[in-house]
Amino acid sequence: MDTLNHKNLQRIYTHACSTYPEECCGFIFADGTVHHGVNIQSELNRRQPDIHARTAANGYTFSVADTLAMNRSFRSGNPVTIIYHSHPDVGAYFSREDENKALFMGKPAYPVAYLVVDVRNAQAKAAKLFQWNGKGFACIHEFHVNEENLTTHPRS
Ligand SMILES: [Zn+2]
Repeated sequence: MDTLNHKNLQRIYTHACSTYPEECCGFIFADGTVHHGVNIQSELNRRQPDIHARTAANGYTFSVADTLAMNRSFRSGNPVTIIYHSHPDVGAYFSREDENKALFMGKPAYPVAYLVVDVRNAQAKAAKLFQWNGKGFACIHEFHVNEENLTTHPRS
């Protein structure tokens, strides 16, 4: 969980706010590096609306470069360990769409946990971390933005 320290959460929240009202997506490497991904969902929707019904307002698809970087990481000493994306104005739950994206033939497609950020009116409110438990993706940790601020600021 060290990779989800205050600084990294802030980086992710900033990203989530900057793409609002669209979803952001990205990932965190084992060494703690946060990679802001590019969500090409709206572009896919424009090109093939019949196949890609969702836009970036309610879906995410990583760019080809992001996908390559992530896949390459799994064969390196510094693999991606967390994939994050935001949910504008609907809450930080793991949707059926998220589950479909995370699974391949009923098994996790990637050896990662998933962080979903709850963004309301361009402000990050909370985030939930989901992990595969053998049957489904369960929330294993919840971050509240204010609590995070309180607990990580040094007391004087
Ligand atoms: Zn989602």
